Amino acid sequence: MRQAGFTRCKVGARRRQALAAYLLVGIACNPMSIGSVRASSLEGSSQYFDQGSALAKILTREMWGAQPAMDGVQPQEPLSIILHHTGVRSSPKLSLESKMRALQSFSQQRAQVSETRSRAPWPDVPYHYYIDPSGRIAEGRDVRYKGDTNTDYDVTGHIQIALEGNFEHELPTKQQLEAARDLLTWLTLSWGIPIQGITAHKDHAKTVCPGKHLLEVLPRLLSTVDIQRTSIIASMCTQERSHEFPRVRCSER
Ligand SMILES: [Zn+2]
Repeated sequence: MRQAGFTRCKVGARRRQALAAYLLVGIACNPMSIGSVRASSLEGSSQYFDQGSALAKILTREMWGAQPAMDGVQPQEPLSIILHHTGVRSSPKLSLESKMRALQSFSQQRAQVSETRSRAPWPDVPYHYYIDPSGRIAEGRDVRYKGDTNTDYDVTGHIQIALEGNFEHELPTKQQLEAARDLLTWLTLSWGIPIQGITAHKDHAKTVCPGKHLLEVLPRLLSTVDIQRTSIIASMCTQERSHEFPRVRCSER
């Protein structure tokens, strides 16, 4: 069942309203970056990654019923990762699939960013990955294309990951943090990104994103990513499975 947006969604008016409110507030309050790049080695295979203790299942664009990206995406090579929150309270009762479809529909239309400013339609969803409160991960924009943002910084080269919620006022869930750990482990291994290459939106632009409660746990999150990466690299190199992540050099451990 493909659903392009609110008008064609087979969801009730109340739910449509909830989705619209969710997106309007989220995108307006939350300058986001769009864009990303998917490793060619991951093409079509991002449903699962299973490396050592790291396991993450990703809801692909096809699975959530994405429309194609519109014209205007700009290529990039992913060199780093930026973490965001969506900036509105999480909506655990809405399905990730419906949220992604609504997000794409909203992104691809002209939208009001503030009382005085609107933005042109974006070619695709603003994030490369989206993690809901249950820890489900959705594939957003193809990481091979850079993102867009309502804030003022150069989005080139960044993989944009959004965790659903407003972490100024609520806490990220345990499941979200575990999913983030696994996604970050996988992305850093896939793209050869160092741990230092994972930053918060706040490090790049004038914003509170990704919220104080996510920032509080960020050092611990990055530490678990580092531990997991080290363990996977050690195991992969010992077992001569380095082809699984060609950007990882066993000799450089
Ligand atoms: Zn952000």
